[in-house]
Amino acid sequence: MPGDVLIRDVLELLIVIAVGGMVVSAIGRLRRREIEVYRCPACDRPTSRAYPRCKHCDTPLEG
Ligand SMILES: [Zn+2]
Repeated sequence: MPGDVLIRDVLELLIVIAVGGMVVSAIGRLRRREIEVYRCPACDRPTSRAYPRCKHCDTPLEG
């Protein structure tokens, strides 16, 4: 029946949109995390590369 085909097409489209939105938001989150958070190699806590040393454990940071 044509009605069933239409509903299936709409559902497929909604799934594609939902999956696409999840992928885009996951990539955006990853990018933000890479830019904003740098983890100290010694204590594994988020710190900033703006400082020459980790503000938690005073380990010199690379880069
Ligand atoms: Zn540290």
